[in-house]
Amino acid sequence: MTKLLIAIICGFVVWKLFMGDKRYKQNKSEEKTENLKASGEMVRDPVCGAYVSKNSDIRVRQGDVVLNFCSYDCRETYLKRIQGPGEGDGQA
Ligand SMILES: [Zn+2]
Repeated sequence: MTKLLIAIICGFVVWKLFMGDKRYKQNKSEEKTENLKASGEMVRDPVCGAYVSKNSDIRVRQGDVVLNFCSYDCRETYLKRIQGPGEGDGQA
């Protein structure tokens, strides 16, 4: 009977450790993202609002400002938005 009790306690302790570790790691990664945002390494995608790395390849230069996007889809959406819907610019 004692053996069973010990097994249950051991199982509980292992489970607790596992859950705690998982939560700890999650907090750590959130912290990292916050730090990146604070240090300016992360910029906001103006289309969907996701945070993307400043070093991302998907970007658009707007004068002095460089905008980063999470995906090419978002970049396309942004370009269409700034060009205006259905506005012809003399292209045949
Ligand atoms: Zn996006």
